[in-house]
Amino acid sequence: MDHVARRVFPYYFAPGKKLFQIVVKMSDEPGSLGLILSLLGSRVNLIGTDTYTMRDGTAIFSAFSEALSTEETPEKLQGLVMSSKAALACEVIEGRDGMLVDAFHTGLEANGEGTMLFRRIALARMLDRTHNLLGSGGDFLLYEEGFAIGKANGEDFVKMLGREKVNEIIGYLRNDISAQGWGRVAVGEAPQADSSTIIIYDCFECSEKSSSRTGCHFFRGYIVGSRLATTGQELSAEEVRCTLKGDKVCEFLLTPKK
Ligand SMILES: [Zn+2]
Repeated sequence: MDHVARRVFPYYFAPGKKLFQIVVKMSDEPGSLGLILSLLGSRVNLIGTDTYTMRDGTAIFSAFSEALSTEETPEKLQGLVMSSKAALACEVIEGRDGMLVDAFHTGLEANGEGTMLFRRIALARMLDRTHNLLGSGGDFLLYEEGFAIGKANGEDFVKMLGREKVNEIIGYLRNDISAQGWGRVAVGEAPQADSSTIIIYDCFECSEKSSSRTGCHFFRGYIVGSRLATTGQELSAEEVRCTLKGDKVCEFLLTPKK
């Protein structure tokens, strides 16, 4: 099966459509979701849904949907959902002028921590601005910021799993980077015994193709910070290939820090 980017719905635009966000608080029991879905199936076309446990015996189902009838209303949908014994509460919010914005969620949470979404292109332009204003000082700053985030994320895994386990399954844990849309990480061939190579496909720093930057300093710092947290090794990273320079991938050569 081809792996794809996960579709998320902070908003959805479909001109001419009658759009609803349907949020249901339901009992966290097997079959609850099936009951809600079977009720909604004949009334709306589900564009994207999320379901997650609240770990208190309840779960939240949130759906972006297009009404199948122009007569549909939030009140009718709410009444329909609440007729199910699985539903504990329901909120239906209608979109405006073909635009549906998530008006229910108050943020994002990943593993209990507040998280944010950025558009990749917007973030790449933010990095451009830092480079354009500060030159090589800006590149150094981006490296340091990447280092800080890489180290914090690495420390988080070590806290949860212990350093030994993290290193045992590090290849699997790296999926976390691509799941969050930063780029896909692979290990390349090491040119010598004490070095290693990390390859990033579809690196977010390279999203802005007309960038004046010539390298991925944030990611370079991220890799070094992450390695320090997970292995205790102080490394230097050199980016030997970069999408911003016309290469197909970004590639970092890691060697012990001298
Ligand atoms: Zn690069």
